[in-house]
Order: sequence, then C-alpha cells, then structure tokens
Amino acid sequence: MAGLLHDRDTAVYVHFPWCAKKCPYCDFATRAVEPASIDHDGYADAIARDLENRRAQLEGRRLVSVFFGGGTPSLWSAAALGRTLERIRGAFGSELDDLEVTAECNPSSLSAEQAQAFAAAGINRTSIGVQSLRERHLQFLGRLHDGAGALRALRDAKATGVRVSADLMFGMRDQRDVLADVDVLIEEGLDHVSAYALTIEPGTQFGTLQRLGKLETANEDDYARMFLEAEARFGAAGLAHYEVSNYARPGEEARHNQHYWRGGDYLALGAAAVGCLSEDGTARRWRNQSDPQRYLAEPIEEWSEALDTSERIQEALMLGLRTTEGVDLDGLAARVGVDPRAGRERALERGFERGDLSLDGAVLTVPRERWLRLDGIVAALF
Ligand code: SF4
Repeated sequence: MAGLLHDRDTAVYVHFPWCAKKCPYCDFATRAVEPASIDHDGYADAIARDLENRRAQLEGRRLVSVFFGGGTPSLWSAAALGRTLERIRGAFGSELDDLEVTAECNPSSLSAEQAQAFAAAGINRTSIGVQSLRERHLQFLGRLHDGAGALRALRDAKATGVRVSADLMFGMRDQRDVLADVDVLIEEGLDHVSAYALTIEPGTQFGTLQRLGKLETANEDDYARMFLEAEARFGAAGLAHYEVSNYARPGEEARHNQHYWRGGDYLALGAAAVGCLSEDGTARRWRNQSDPQRYLAEPIEEWSEALDTSERIQEALMLGLRTTEGVDLDGLAARVGVDPRAGRERALERGFERGDLSLDGAVLTVPRERWLRLDGIVAALF
C-alpha cells in the first residue's frame, strides 16, 4: 500500500556544501576545503536567516523529518548543527512524534566523539558513506578512508544508540568483493543499507577519463548479476529491497526519503539546496544560491520554477515507481487536480500486458523483478 501523505507534512533538507576532498565521480554541489577553514557558526547563522525568510510559507505545516546532507555534514561542528536543528524545529507549529533526524557522515570525519556529539545534538539516524570495505575500490573512488576506518565509524555510530545506515557502491570493475562487503554489513547488524550504482557524470574526473577511454567499470551483465545477488543476500538476512537502491528491515526504512518518494513537500536550507513546496494545488521548486561564500553573505534563491500539473505527475511517477509502495493514482489525482491515467491509458495497458506494471486497487507499481529495467518502463509512460 502507498503511504498516506498529508499535504501540510513537510520535510527539511539542509545542505552542507563542503568536503575535505572532491571524489572523482562526484557531481554534487560540494567544494573541497581545508576543514579548519569552515565557518561553522557563520553557516548556521546564514541558514537561520534563510529559515526566517521562509517563515510565512511554513504557517500550518507539520515537520516530518530533517536530513543534513552534503557534502560532508560530519565536518560541521555539532554545536552549530544542533543550533540549526533547534531553529528548524522552532519554526514549525507541530512535528511528527519520533521525528527522524538524519546526518550523512563520512568515516574520515566521524570520530567516536563526533558521533556522540551529533547524537547529543539531536541526530537520531546516521547515514555513513562506506562505499566499499576494500582498499583498491576505495582508492579507485578517491575516498579518504580505508575499510577498517569504515567499520570503526559504523560501530562508533551504533554505540551511540542512533539508527545507522551504510552507503555501498556497485558498478566498479571486478565487483566480486562487493558481495563480500554485503555479507560484512549484514554481520555488523545494520538495519538499513543504500546500495547505489556508480554513475559516470560529465564534468567529473571520471567523466573525462571515460571520454578518453581510460575508465574501466562493470559491464551491464556483471552489474545485473551483482544487483540480483545482493538483493538475495539482503533478503535472506531480513532486509527488504523497498526502493531500487535501498534495503531495510521492516520499520527501519528512511522516512525522510519515503516522504520524498511519495511526492511530499520539502523545504531546502543551505547553499545549493533544492526545495519544493505546494500551496493551493500549485507547486514551486527552487534552488538556493549555490556558491557557499555568497550564501554566507546573503542566503537567497538563485533559481525557481512553477511546476505544471504534467511535471508534477511525471515526477510523482518517476519517484514512486522506484519503490515497493508504488504510486497511489487516486491520491496523486487529488493532489494535483488531474487524473494521471488520463492520456496514458494505452501506455498503462501495454505495461500491464508485458508484466512491467501492476495495479492493486489504485496503487501502481513496477514489480521488483523488473527493477533492472525501471528507467525504460517509466519512460514509456511519458
Ligand atoms: S565525500 Fe561525498 S559529497 Fe563529498 S565529494 Fe565525495 S562523494 Fe561528493
């Protein structure tokens, strides 16, 4: 069943735009800096001003989750992060009981002390960028930690009592080790793992190497084998494949991401953060000033757009069909004012005939055994 979405429920995403080093595959809005040069309090103050400018838009909304992403939020001082969290909670009239507050952390900047300080500041879920436990993969990915450091960070985070997730990367050349990493993460007793494909983006170091024919990655068949074998191993250990790139024990799903996949509203704070809020049947998306120094001086938007109904439907299908929950077509129709079935009757029919789509009441899903072809299946609906 698709999860229930209340239209005043709002998640908050806070972007931390700095990393100690830029990874060669990364095209996120982040800059490499000397950690000692980060203006911790200045950044918290800029976000406080950004939040203040949004107050009127938060009227009557309920806070459902907070996610500190990046970049590398574990480089931020726990005091500045904690102050930011307090202000966010204070800006909403109400919040969900048991509010999920996540911080993305890198093993190289998550000491045991930092993990404790984050937990004391109100973080109750930590998502750790493990990526791999093997030196050769970590070196290839340009990461600053080694396998032992990643395991230490996972254990330190778990010792604080917060929920812990690990990010794991697929798609490197010769991936047999990835399955061994899956087994180790299962043995570590994790309740949530995000397993992402390495994607090569233009404008990154890897993008350049690929253009020059100098980058070796997994071929499609190898990738498909790993994807299915990892799913089988996680499944046998009780971690359900609930979204294309995510596994969790029942009840341990990432609630912030679920809100986003269900098409919920989200407020963006911080440099380069993207938000989307709906009001009276319309929706507006924006991106904040992406240059961190300019954001520190004046936290304003650098771009925004009104989303029309067909864009909202397209986005809801693209996100929702990545999950086992799927998309509640009646709920979506009520939210955007147009039935998403209208104009795509034949595309839906063809999808049902091929077994690419399935309908339970009004809930549309892509069966899990078809997820390797998800992009093509969703594209056929537009
Ligand atoms: S640590 Fe993460 S956000 Fe930072 S450069 Fe590497 S992949 Fe990108």
